[in-house]
Formats: sequence, structure tokens, C-alpha cells
Amino acid sequence: MRRIQHFIDGQHTPGSSGRVSDVYDPATGKVQAQVDLASVSEVNQVVASATKAAIGWSESSLTQRTQIMFRFRELLAARTDELAKVISSEHGKVVSDAAGEVARGLENVEFACGIAHHLKGEINEQVSDGIEVYSLRQPLGVVAGITPFNFPAMVPAWMFATAIACGNAFICKPSERDPSAAMLIAEWLIEAGLPPGVFSVLNGDKEAVDALIDHEDVAAISFVGSTPIASYVYERATNAGKRVQALGGAKNHMLVLPDADIDMAADAAVSAAYGSAGERCMAVSALVAVGSVADELVQAIANRIPAVKIGPGNEPEAEMGPLITQEHRDRVAGYVERAQEAGAVAVVDGAIADLPSDGFFYGPTLLDEVTSDMECYQDEIFGPVLSVVRVETFREAIDLINSNPFGNGTAIFTRDGGAARQFQHEVQVGMVGINVPIPVPVAYHSFGGWKASLFGDTHMYGPEGVRFYTRAKAITARWPDPASSQVDLGFPQNQ
Ligand code: NAD
Repeated sequence: MRRIQHFIDGQHTPGSSGRVSDVYDPATGKVQAQVDLASVSEVNQVVASATKAAIGWSESSLTQRTQIMFRFRELLAARTDELAKVISSEHGKVVSDAAGEVARGLENVEFACGIAHHLKGEINEQVSDGIEVYSLRQPLGVVAGITPFNFPAMVPAWMFATAIACGNAFICKPSERDPSAAMLIAEWLIEAGLPPGVFSVLNGDKEAVDALIDHEDVAAISFVGSTPIASYVYERATNAGKRVQALGGAKNHMLVLPDADIDMAADAAVSAAYGSAGERCMAVSALVAVGSVADELVQAIANRIPAVKIGPGNEPEAEMGPLITQEHRDRVAGYVERAQEAGAVAVVDGAIADLPSDGFFYGPTLLDEVTSDMECYQDEIFGPVLSVVRVETFREAIDLINSNPFGNGTAIFTRDGGAARQFQHEVQVGMVGINVPIPVPVAYHSFGGWKASLFGDTHMYGPEGVRFYTRAKAITARWPDPASSQVDLGFPQNQ
């Protein structure tokens, strides 16, 4: 059985805890590898290596860092297909979708190639007679990122590209369900010239996460995952005195107004609800149909579902792969069953779709007549299930979205600019699409939701990522003639 180890000091390093976890191929349902799960001693080992590396790395020049990032960018671009196949084999998403994930992660590396621009300080000349004040930003030291299963390359790239370019050493704790993407990234960063220890991979579960959070030499924690764990990580890490950004789960609403182009809205709903089998934090899972649009829209979506090609991720024709585990597949099926018991209408039921016989497949599901008190509306299902909530007015639609505890992404489909303007202004959600169903910001903006979708003050990557991974220093300087020096016990005032 293939064994996935840790990546410490620039090398694959076997675990010493004796604990392992199975890594499945979700398309076949078979175990394809085992991954080491770290305990405290391996956490201490990786943090010691990163701490040592961080000292030299923080003194590296911006030219050196930029050149390494450019080389890594070239490797990643050239090997996108290789990485996409690895992602697909452990996650289940189709290879073309995995390649899309790599492409979006690559944008974060490209952002980091321009880090010199983002680390420019500010200066005021002559704030007082002969005095300058300037501010600069310095790295934190060792920082850790704990990442979810659903984007095993892109979400680490949200973090490590900026963290490393800012001069930190970064420890990645990937999901134990699909850890191989992070291991490949670690190898390629070394190939690009990154010194050993600046990027490490520590595989593990709660035990590793807790030990990383508690370790006094880890300065900051970035987390992406489900809301209960995000909240737990935020609390534990802030109590440990660390800087934390913890992104949680989502329930993303797509609002469709009666004036919207029905075919365009239906195409967008199918793509955003069933792409990656709904296992995206920005997937659309609730469709809010306003007034007369509902019947026609539900029919248009139902008409498109049979054309979605379901199959193993490595089949070139496949558009939607399996779910991550059998347990998760059954959990999704349970939500759909209970939704129908609660009164929702399964226009299309994924449980009775024509699916491959092996693996963790579940078909696209369309639930109509869903109400806000139903479990299928309230919970993040994280599967290919789209719930349609019918409302009478635009006002009702905005109020519904704003009363949801999550606030990650949302989208409006309309041809009315005034309505779109009102929506973007009033909706209490961190990322908003206008006729764009999955509004993931580009790498030079920042990513983050509101409410239960984000714990902490800074969003991820982009300018906010630079702020998160650095701390500010302000310097007041003067070069006076020593002859003018005198004792003055008064509080310094600017003249
Ligand atoms: P998860 O919360 O189960 O796991 C995330 C990470 O936390 C993994 O590395 C895991 O090993 C670790 N972990 C799990 N249980 C833990 C515990 N008890 N204590 C400490 N660490 C623990 O999430 P997942 O199932 O891997 O990913 C799916 C979730 O991630 C969904 O809720 C999705 O919405 C969310 N997500 C959010 C975003 C975002 O940007 N907001 C992006 C991607 C995924």
C-alpha cells in the first residue's frame, strides 16, 4: 500500500506516531494509499525545521523570493495536468475541474510574483523639522495553514504563496482525505529553489491541528473548512495569542428576478450547483425564485440535469464525479430523503439517477417548494443538491438571504441595473455576483465571507493576505546636527 508521509526539511519524512488514515479513490470506492497522521512529536519536528528556515528566509532579498516564485509559477503551469490528475484521483472531481482549481491557485502564485510592489512601505518626509516617518511590513516567522478536502491545491495556494513571498516559513496541514496535492507542491517548490523548511507539509487530523495551534513558535493560523471547526480553531488559536483567519462553511443563494434571461439563469444554476458535485464553498445551494419566474426556471433546470455527464474524474467526457466518501454520500442522501418527508418536492432525485455502480456517486438533485424552516435549507449539505425557495417579492428575497447565518457568496440574475445595485448594497454577504454565479474574487482582491462563513478580521489572499502575513513597523527618524542637542523632558511635539 502506498504511504503518504510528511514533508519536512525539504524531504519526504516518515511519520513516527504509528497512526494512519486511508485515502480513497472516490470513483472506485477503493483505498489507494495510507497517509501518516502526526502526533505532537512530529509537530515539534516540523515547527523546529520551519523556525530554523524562517530566520534565513526572512533575510532573503525580494529579488530572490520573486525569482523563486516565478520559477514555481512556470513549473506549476507546465504541470497543471499532472497535478489535476492527482487531485481528481483522491478528491473525485473531474480532471478538467481540477485543472481549473490549479489555474485559480496559480493566480495566487502570480500575485506573489509581484510581492515587492505589495510590500512597499509608506513615507512622509518632513513631518516635523528634519524628521521623516516611514512604515514597513515584516514577516511573522512560522505560520500554519489548515486546509479542507475540497480544494487540495487552490486553498493551500491562497495561503502559502503570499505567506512565503512575505518572508515567512509556512506549514501546510492538508486534509487527510486528499493530501497528495500538497506533497507535489512541496516537491516543486524545492525544485524552484525554495530553501528546505520554508514550506513543509504536516499530515494529520485533530491531534496535529491542536498541537500546531498550541505551539508557541507558530505565529499565525490560517484555516479553511467547515464552520464548527473554523469556530473551534479561531477560539483556540486566539486564546493561544495567535493571529487567526478561519474561513467556514456556506449556504450560497442565487436570486433570480422575473426579468432575468431564463436560459442563462438555468445554465448558471446547473453549473454552480452541480459542478464538483456541489463540494465547493461557493457552490449555489439555494435558488431564490422571485414571483412568476419560478415555474419556468425550475423546468429549465430540470431539463438540463439529464445532460450532466456523471462518471469517474479521469473519464474525459465526465462533467461531475463522485462525492468524497461513502459516509458523505449517505449523508447527502439522508438530507434529500428528510427534505421530502418535510414537504419539499424532489423534481429530480439524485438517488435514482443512472450512476456508475462503484464509487461514491450521487446524482444532481433538484428540490422545489423548500421553505426556510427545513433542514435542507438551513444546513450546508455540500453535495449536488439545489433547493428552490419561492418568494413573492425582491424585498422578501433579500431579507431571506440576510437572515441566513452564513454569508459567503451570493449572486443575483437580472437585467435590471437598479435592482442589482440595491442587491449589492443591501445584501449581507462577503462575495457578490451580478449575473456571475460563482463570484470568487481574483487573486489581487481578497476572498472572504461574512457572518458564520469567516472568523477573524482579515480575508484571505490578495492585499488582505499581505496584511495578515506581515506586521507593521513605524519608524521616526532625524539626522540633526549634534550641536543642537539638548535635554528636554517634555513630550515630543511636532513643529
Ligand atoms: P473540515 O472542517 O472537516 O476540515 C478542514 C480541516 O480541519 C482539515 O484539514 C481537517 O483535517 C481539520 N479538522 C477536521 N476536524 C477537526 C477537528 N475536530 N479539530 C481540528 N481540526 C480538524 O472541512 P472539510 O470537510 O475538509 O471541507 C469542507 C468544508 O470546508 C465545507 O464546510 C466548505 O464550505 C468549507 N470550505 C470553505 C471555504 C471558504 O472559503 N469559506 C473554502 C473551501 C471549503
